[in-house]
Amino acid sequence: MVEDDERQRRIEWLGQVCIGLHEQFGPLTEGAPAAYIPELSNVDPDLFAIAAVALDGQEQLTGDHDHLFTIQSISKLLLYGLALETHGREAVLERVGVAPTGDLFNAIELDEERHRAPNPMVNAGAIAITDMVGGSREERIEGIAAMFERYLGRRPEIDDAVWKSERATGNHNRAIAYLLLSHGIIEDRVEETLDVYFAQCSVLVSARDLAMIGATIANSGVHPVSGEQIVSPRVARDMLTVALTCGMYDYAGEWAYTVGIPAKSGVGGGIVGIIPGAGAVAVFSPRLDEHGNSVRGLRVFEALSEEFDMHLFDFDRPWTRA
Ligand code: GLN
Repeated sequence: MVEDDERQRRIEWLGQVCIGLHEQFGPLTEGAPAAYIPELSNVDPDLFAIAAVALDGQEQLTGDHDHLFTIQSISKLLLYGLALETHGREAVLERVGVAPTGDLFNAIELDEERHRAPNPMVNAGAIAITDMVGGSREERIEGIAAMFERYLGRRPEIDDAVWKSERATGNHNRAIAYLLLSHGIIEDRVEETLDVYFAQCSVLVSARDLAMIGATIANSGVHPVSGEQIVSPRVARDMLTVALTCGMYDYAGEWAYTVGIPAKSGVGGGIVGIIPGAGAVAVFSPRLDEHGNSVRGLRVFEALSEEFDMHLFDFDRPWTRA
């Protein structure tokens, strides 16, 4: 284990670097907020936050770190953990595989050979995972809210306007859901399952919340502040694996190559990057590239990965070195 004062020094240095990167990339206005969900385009595109949380709960916060935005696809990672905890690996793998697709996050495609969704980080997989949450509509939403409460340390709030907006315009997701139904992967309650899926995408989080969520997963499933074991170490490992291979959608390969840490992004503008055994960093900036990933977020993580040798295959990786 690295010495405590060395770790402390590194966390403070990380905080300083984040302040510098916030200044450096603030003027970057490339990309645009998601518009296919009309309500998302009303966001102030200049919002920008970087937050880091270490395993002991120490925080380094920069910019609009308390601004609340919708979690969107980052919820997919948490729902995957919930499904693995509730149903076990075998049952989940029967419906959702672990293969990166190389296609857009909302591609209307399945693993036709195995009759399952390609992976839990794209919409098809997340809708299939949402179907696995049992009970009535209310019970399913409550089950997901209870899970969020354990990560956030408060009752989750849903952005009603975004939820409604997704419900009203989500025909692409409807097409995915009916394809899943036609293969017998989900039950015949498509509108309800989509409603639950849209609800979880509309949960409000801050960059700071995302970093805390990431730090929980980095900490083998133990919340850094409450000390609660939210998912088992084995489930945390599975979550990290799919985050590394599929978390950035069709950019996952490039991300693994350049940044090299498990991560998940959402079209609300959030990205959480997880450094197993060390902590997590989250960036919020709503302007997205063509893959649906935050443009400033990508730049910040590329710079951080270089500066701190964060890449999992950096032989000089200081974070968890013995
Ligand atoms: N709610 C969004 C959708 O289903 C989530 C997509 C995302 O964040 N990539 O389209």
